Amino acid sequence: MIENKNIKKSWAEPFKIKVVEPIKMTTYEQRSKALEEAGYNTFLLKSEDVYIDLLTDSGTNAMSDYQWAGMMLGDEAYAGSKNFYYLWDNVRKYYGQPFFVPTHQGRAAEHLVSKILIKEGDYIPGNMYFTTTRLHQELAGGTFVDVIIDEAHDPDSTHQFKGNIDTQKLEDLFKKVGADKVPYVSMAGPVNMAGGQPFSMANLKEVKTLCDKYGVALWFDATRATENAYFIKTKEEGYADKTIQEIFFEMNSYFEGVWVSAKKDLMVNIGGFLATKNEKVYEEARNLVVVYEGLHTYGGLAGRDMEAMARGIEEMIEFDNIRTRIGQIEYCGQKMLEYGLPIVNPIGGHAIFMNARRFLDHITQDEFPAQTLAAAIYQDSGVRGMERGIVSSGRDPVTGKHRYPKLELVRLTFPRRVYTQAHIDVTVESVANVYDQRKSIKGLKMVYEPKYLRFFQARFEKI
Ligand SMILES: *Cc1c(COP(=O)(O)O)cnc(C)c1O
Repeated sequence: MIENKNIKKSWAEPFKIKVVEPIKMTTYEQRSKALEEAGYNTFLLKSEDVYIDLLTDSGTNAMSDYQWAGMMLGDEAYAGSKNFYYLWDNVRKYYGQPFFVPTHQGRAAEHLVSKILIKEGDYIPGNMYFTTTRLHQELAGGTFVDVIIDEAHDPDSTHQFKGNIDTQKLEDLFKKVGADKVPYVSMAGPVNMAGGQPFSMANLKEVKTLCDKYGVALWFDATRATENAYFIKTKEEGYADKTIQEIFFEMNSYFEGVWVSAKKDLMVNIGGFLATKNEKVYEEARNLVVVYEGLHTYGGLAGRDMEAMARGIEEMIEFDNIRTRIGQIEYCGQKMLEYGLPIVNPIGGHAIFMNARRFLDHITQDEFPAQTLAAAIYQDSGVRGMERGIVSSGRDPVTGKHRYPKLELVRLTFPRRVYTQAHIDVTVESVANVYDQRKSIKGLKMVYEPKYLRFFQARFEKI
């Protein structure tokens, strides 16, 4: 296969730039002031004050001319829009899931799935948590149980599939609480909180076999599934000659259903959906979506948004697109390693994760090292990343105490098709500069804490 022969050669973007969006350059003094006003939380900065925005790749992607052209074909009928049917066709074709309900974004689909499947007192095992996923599972009365392999919690482990589920942990849970208390196993890949780490197809098949043995359903957070398919193709034996589409289809085939934030892989600015083989779940979801989102043929979205999503599916599955995406992250990670910067290994699918514990080893976890580091990088250069550590982890709903995650990370996330290699060079230089001056950096204290998903709106002051 020609595709495969090219894998190790250098790559360039399979597109050229047609429209540009100017960004503002700021001074150190302006950034210091903006940071203080934002309570040292990068989520509270104004986007105008940001130079290179690596906060998230969620909804921040550049759409193609093909997607933009589709926006003009929006059929904004209240019921039965043609864009809805086109999107449904593509979900069936690429994900292989026959039933489909659109939602305004991923967490809305998580809300529906959790509400339908979870009863009070249930347990939901998953390969590490994701913030909104776990919260919806908890709000529905469930308890999330992390069954990811131990290596995932070790930023230095070079395990190639750190997103794998530890099947022993999973079986132990089935035995301990009883499989009837487990409505479904919740799998995601690549695993964001572990550093964008994929699971292998072999592991997925083992998990599926175990779930079948105990009669437990297996559901997929397929938000970043094309990235996972890319890692299977490039790292797992037996998949080098398969296309991304084939691998993607096979992965999805093992699940009873999927939920998706279209703001990631599908390269749009808004959207989500759930899709399933389970007709009963579908019927309930189709009914509930009317309560929370809108009619089941638009689910909180405009017709034009559904058209952009449908076209995004066709593009996300192209090998060159996904290689470029992950190639940018590899390039950034390699440069950081050359500088000796402490990052999570192996380099993940959508972001570089810096090990803030090691970076700022003089700051205790109670003084929020990752929050502090994200603020320091912004102050240095206007590059915006985000905290993925104790603040994101939140409090234990039972004890009310901070959860202390092993991983204390700053995430620099690359929006798809938005920044160039030169932006990456500037970013790496800034992080290196902060690293050289790390001993002079002091920690933070939290002065405002919201009840849910506190990392979005919490405020801090310098110690
Ligand atoms: C972004 C994301 C979600 C939530 O989706 P939203 O569109 O932000 O509501 C859920 N799971 C994963 C893995 C995500 O990356």
